[in-house]
Formats: sequence, structure tokens, C-alpha cells
Amino acid sequence: MTLAYSTSTHRAIQQEHQYIAQTYPRPPFVLTKGQGMTVWDADGKAYLDFVAGIAVMALGHSDPDVTHAIQSQAEQLVHVSNLYYTGPQGELAAQLCAHSFADRVFFCNSGAEANEACIKFARKFAYAHNQPDRTEVIVFSNAFHGRTLGALSITPKPKYQDPFRPLLPDVTVLPLNDVAAAEAAIGAQTCAVVVEPVQGEGGIHVATDVFLQALRAACDQHGALLVFDEVQSGLGRTGTLWAHESSGVQPDLMAVAKPLAAGLPMGAALMTERVHAVLQPGDHGSTFAGGDLVASVALTVLQKVNTPEFLAHVREVSLYLHEKLEALESPHILEVRGRGLMLGIELDFPARDILQAGYDAGFLLVNAGPNVLRLVPPLIVDRAHIDALITFLHDFFQKVGAQD
Ligand SMILES: *Cc1c(COP(=O)(O)O)cnc(C)c1O
Repeated sequence: MTLAYSTSTHRAIQQEHQYIAQTYPRPPFVLTKGQGMTVWDADGKAYLDFVAGIAVMALGHSDPDVTHAIQSQAEQLVHVSNLYYTGPQGELAAQLCAHSFADRVFFCNSGAEANEACIKFARKFAYAHNQPDRTEVIVFSNAFHGRTLGALSITPKPKYQDPFRPLLPDVTVLPLNDVAAAEAAIGAQTCAVVVEPVQGEGGIHVATDVFLQALRAACDQHGALLVFDEVQSGLGRTGTLWAHESSGVQPDLMAVAKPLAAGLPMGAALMTERVHAVLQPGDHGSTFAGGDLVASVALTVLQKVNTPEFLAHVREVSLYLHEKLEALESPHILEVRGRGLMLGIELDFPARDILQAGYDAGFLLVNAGPNVLRLVPPLIVDRAHIDALITFLHDFFQKVGAQD
């Protein structure tokens, strides 16, 4: 059988406009092929990909081991549901536990679902400990935890939340990295404290080690659960397997998703045995979750990312990228921040201007909020790709400077 769809730019865009729910603005080209750091559009134009499908394609496009895992598992078994025992999910869970704080894993299909699972399990934890009134969830300014109603309720952005009220009750929003505010707020009513060790969509804000340590202490003091949302920061993105490692703090629950299955939809809620002890058959579930295809691909991702050499490469190139960005020295750059290959450049103009110039010059770039350019390339990015980006950014800021 040949392709059942047309790859003409005009037709793909026309069909999107006519038949797809109009919830995403998109630039006017159609991507059809990827290899390593590069993607091509239907007209054959190449783009260096500094977005990676929103921090998803850690191994880049068309990684041969991922392709092999997809092909060989597709020939074996794709999906039978969680009514039955299957092979890859148990091995994947064992490896995630061996390389994290966790004792148990609940699989799901996205980052939002991973956070939904964490919220439900924290609620069940309070309920099972005869504290049904312990319902407060504390989150932080600029947090992003997803778009489903539960995850949206803990994503304090009026534009996302206001049309969908009423949301989950008892959500408290505190300033990130304000230890005193967190210590004052966390109490006997607090069910869970949810935090991204490095905030992604909200503008690449890093939670300090001291802050995460203070959250852990306050949660322990008051019997609340600490939840890390590592959907974007996890699995090597910051140069360690988990972004929270530098803090020495371990959470009770952790949400993982974006890069987990190399672009196939997969999420996971990792938990300690203490949390798992309150769960019973039927408490939560998902038809697709942890299926053989996604789980075998995720095993491949974990095996490739979680090696000392691969993580050292991430740290080495991210240091290089960070230094080059710092050296750009434009008055329009207000701050360069982030960790590893999760960097943000705060601008004094809308980031969309730079995205547009990037498309023209052959770069995929993404923002994180209105005026932060976010760099989350595949973790296989090398110095030559970075040099090309820096040349583009240098020229761009020169032109902006000339217009002042
Ligand atoms: C992307 C993201 C989510 C939501 O993931 P989806 O797969 O889009 O549902 C949740 N938390 C963080 C930190 C994210 O970056």
C-alpha cells in the first residue's frame, strides 16, 4: 500500500483549516520527514530542530534503535490492554524504579494524565488515612501541568483556566522559590505540593535546590505529599536523569512523559511504596497505557539516555550553548536561564518575531510564554548545530539592534 494521504503543502494546510479543530496556530509549511537534528518540509526545505516536538525527541528523529524497536514490536504484539499480563511494561517499570526514588509505576498516555494520576493518588492517600478533608493542592506561579480538567486546575494561567470554570477546588498558588510563603502555607489541610524542578511552558524558571529542600521538609512536617512534575525536565534533559537530583530531595510521586517513548504517547506516575500501599484494583486505569509497543520503545529510550556518556554529552553541549548565548550580548536579551538543554532567553520583544525569522532561516524554535525563547533541542545536538543557531541569533540581534 502507498501513502493514504497527500503530502502537498497546499492540501495539508487546506484540510487542517477545514477539518481540524482550530486550537493551534501553525506556521505555513508541512513537515514530512526527520533525521537526527533535521526535519524537512513538503517542499524539501530543511530546518534544524531546536524544539524536538516540545522536548520529546531526545534521541532526535528516526533514531535507528527506536525505529527497530517500533518495527520489531509491531510484528510481535502492539496492544492487548491491561486486562492481561504483558512483557515490556514490567521491565520498563523495573528500570524506572531502579533509576529513581520510586518503588512502583502507573502508566498512562500523556503528561496531563501523569499529573491526573498523581493528584488522584494523593487524594486517595489522604482518604485512606482518614483525612478526607485534606484536599488542598499547592502549586506555583507560572506552573504548567496540562490541559485536562484536573491538570488544568493546577495550571494557574487565566487564559487557560477562565473559560472552563468551575475547576477543582482547594488549589493554592504560591510564588516559586519563596521558601517563607511555602512554609507558611503548607499545613494539615495540604494534600499535595506539585512543582516542576525546572518550569517549562511557564518560561524556564528553575526551582532552587533550597526551595525543593524546604518543600520536602514542610511536607514531611505536615503529612503532605510532594509531587515533582518532570514531564519536560526528566529523562536526561537537564544533564542528569532527573532534574531534581541536584537538590538531593526525593518526591513521593513524580510525573514523567514527554521524551519517554520517543514521540509515541506515553506517560507515567512514579511513586513510593508508601503511596502505592493505598491503591486498590479499580482506583485508576487506562485502556492504552503501558502497551507493548510504547513500552518497548520507552525501554530503548531509557537504555540509550541513561548512560554516563550520553548524560555527559548533554552537560557538555549545554554548557557550550549556555556560554554562547551569554556571549550574544544584545540589549534585547534580558536574561538567559535554565539547566542543561532546557534553556530560556527572556527578550524585551515578543518571541514570535524570532520564531518567524527562524523559519525563514531554517530553524524550528519555540517560545515559553510571550517573550521567552525556549531551546529544548534533541539531546543529541552537537557543537556544529549550536554554532549554526548562534550565527542565526547573532545576525538576528544585529538586525534588531540596527532598527533601534
Ligand atoms: C507538556 C507538559 C505537561 C502536559 O503534557 P501533555 O502530554 O501535553 O499532556 C505537563 N507538565 C509539564 C511540566 C509539561 O511540560
